[in-house]
Amino acid sequence: MLGPRDWPAPCTWCGGRLVHSQACRELRDGWAIRFGFGKHKGQRVDRVPREYLEWLWSSGSITNADLKAAIAKILGVPDSPRHDMAA
Ligand SMILES: [Zn+2]
Repeated sequence: MLGPRDWPAPCTWCGGRLVHSQACRELRDGWAIRFGFGKHKGQRVDRVPREYLEWLWSSGSITNADLKAAIAKILGVPDSPRHDMAA
């Protein structure tokens, strides 16, 4: 007996509310950026400690644009061109 206001907002991926489709879960997982290096290699960016992301960000050594954008989003900082590789 749940009314509309008892439901969470529908998923932007599959439109599901409490339950997501299998395809949705796979899609989300596929979109998740993973580290290809370092002590968190193979792990999703959104699953590693924030301190590590902050350290990595401040080191300015991130050269992968997708990874950089993902970390910037998580840390809530602008994706600064300062770290871009000037070709
Ligand atoms: Zn979903």
